Amino acid sequence: MIIPKSSKLTKDQINQLEGIASDFDCSILEIQGRNRCVYAILGDEGREVMFKRIAGLSFIRTVEMIESPYKLMDRRSGLSDHIVKIGKNEIGAGNPFIIGGPCTIDPEQPNLYLETAHALKESGVQALRGGVWKPRTNPYSYQGDSKSLEIILQAREETGLPIDVEVMDVEQLKIALDAKVNILQIGTRNALNYSLLKDVGRLSAGGETSILLKRGRHVASPDEFIAAAEYLVAEGNPNVLLCPRGTTPALDGYRNHPDESITPLLKNRTWAPVVVDPSHSVGHSDFVKSCSLAAVAYGADGLCIESHIDPAKGIGDDPKQAITPDAMKDLIEACKSVWKNRYTP
Ligand code: PEP
Ligand code: MN
Repeated sequence: MIIPKSSKLTKDQINQLEGIASDFDCSILEIQGRNRCVYAILGDEGREVMFKRIAGLSFIRTVEMIESPYKLMDRRSGLSDHIVKIGKNEIGAGNPFIIGGPCTIDPEQPNLYLETAHALKESGVQALRGGVWKPRTNPYSYQGDSKSLEIILQAREETGLPIDVEVMDVEQLKIALDAKVNILQIGTRNALNYSLLKDVGRLSAGGETSILLKRGRHVASPDEFIAAAEYLVAEGNPNVLLCPRGTTPALDGYRNHPDESITPLLKNRTWAPVVVDPSHSVGHSDFVKSCSLAAVAYGADGLCIESHIDPAKGIGDDPKQAITPDAMKDLIEACKSVWKNRYTP
């Protein structure tokens, strides 16, 4: 990890770095942080002579070797002061960052989505979610429809709130990037799809786009989750949000096993914001508020919550998991009071 004296190196300075790196079969990747660029050495970076030659360049402040399986995500990396900004919000500052909206947008009833979006804005959410293309366990269940993208874009236009949309393949990714979707969601089923993670990181690099990376349902260790996020950053996009969303259930009565207690571990090991999804963690609207409060107490910077103006009329997970905009308002107020006493590393 190379940290320059200026906020961004010139082409000529990058050429000098690349010249040195290539002598050691390495290359250089520019990573655009919020306030400055840092430069990662790709390849076998453990070469002392290469380090010394780079450190000797007049425009370099420091060169660090981080002994970590995830050197860019590590709290000790040059990105440690990177702040993810979505719309007007700096994640982690002020109040919990709340993403709200239906599991799935019903393309036949755009008004249900639009009314929900306006009601959620009133409730105090900072971003809207809505499934356009859906990963469904059952191949005969509703799979989503590109028409729904128009609906969530209209909701962004009308409310001014940034939007979160899940993408499952490169075709959807390109459509979402063309539409300037603010938050690309990578779902639990693709959490370890390394080629998709690389495509998402590479094609969204250098811009404002953020990525909400959900924890795989079967992923056991925090390190495996962080390493998946490393793929995104190593391709050039550091605007990553880590999203615990429950793992394979061990308790009868929950859809998944709530894993919000992973949050302090993630906060200790990485600099990345944690945005917990209590809806999929518990799978039942009645438990969403308590899971949200627990998540914030454990140190979550935000929450991604399924919400619908009339859950019974929703599709996908909404009839069982979505909370109403009124319940969202109450939940947000309750979380703000826990926020003051939350865990911070
Ligand atoms: C969703 O957010 O609606 C979803 C499918 O999430 P997950 O990938 O966590 O199951
Ligand atoms: Mn869902």
